[in-house]
Amino acid sequence: MTDAAALPGQPRGGVISGPATARARCVLAPNPSPMTLDGTNTWIIAEPDSDLAVVIDPGPLDEAHLQAVIDTAAQAGKRIGLTLLTHHHADHAEGAGRFAELTRTAVRALDPALSLGGEGLAAGDVITTGGLELRVVPTPGHTADSLCFHLPADGAVLTGDTILGRGTTVVAHPDGRLGDYLDSLRRLRSLTVDDGVSTVLPGHGPVLNDAQGAVEFYLAHRAHRLAQVETAVESGHRTPAEVVANVYAEVDRSLWPAAEMSVRAQLEYLGEHGLI
Ligand SMILES: [Zn+2]
Repeated sequence: MTDAAALPGQPRGGVISGPATARARCVLAPNPSPMTLDGTNTWIIAEPDSDLAVVIDPGPLDEAHLQAVIDTAAQAGKRIGLTLLTHHHADHAEGAGRFAELTRTAVRALDPALSLGGEGLAAGDVITTGGLELRVVPTPGHTADSLCFHLPADGAVLTGDTILGRGTTVVAHPDGRLGDYLDSLRRLRSLTVDDGVSTVLPGHGPVLNDAQGAVEFYLAHRAHRLAQVETAVESGHRTPAEVVANVYAEVDRSLWPAAEMSVRAQLEYLGEHGLI
């Protein structure tokens, strides 16, 4: 789910051709909207010499899309060995049950209730399917159950909705909390600074090849919005809806309901820190 503000990267549509990195391929789900950009990116991750792949976010319950994911893997000589979810939102997870049936694989997510035939994921878990090394990085904030997956061999991180290829994400209050989100962005920044991550493979929008720049942009954008919200409150805008109309005036109104969730998260954060 997106907020507004431009980040480099062009819109794109249709099927993604060729691998994004040595180990990652993308199949774009046919669910474009103001909230999902071009649609959901379903990622197929595999070691080049392995016949087993991991799928991250099967996407919406769309039979043709789920089959396209299986076919794309098969064309690369892979079959699906495991399915992972970055978080519970329907545009990422709704198709997981059907995908698990089609591929006879387990589904794993942070929330055990979303996991099918497998355990829930936790900080420090490492997925080793088909010789991969995919490290589980909890990144709450967009939602409480948001995860990123670090793919060290490609210097890449799969970010779900925590960082998008274009625009910025929503802190989906009350499930998502701003303090958690800022901590998660700092965690991702340390992956870029200390662990050599340079590529963002996002849940929506194009691949980003300056991961640190993207994280810094998100942190700066959040600080800027927070200052705007604080100013709006100080100048008498009291309700979340009033703050949205003031701070997000330049943003398309179709995004205002999402902006209101982010504003509620920001008001909560400012209140907790004694700033309003
Ligand atoms: Zn989401």
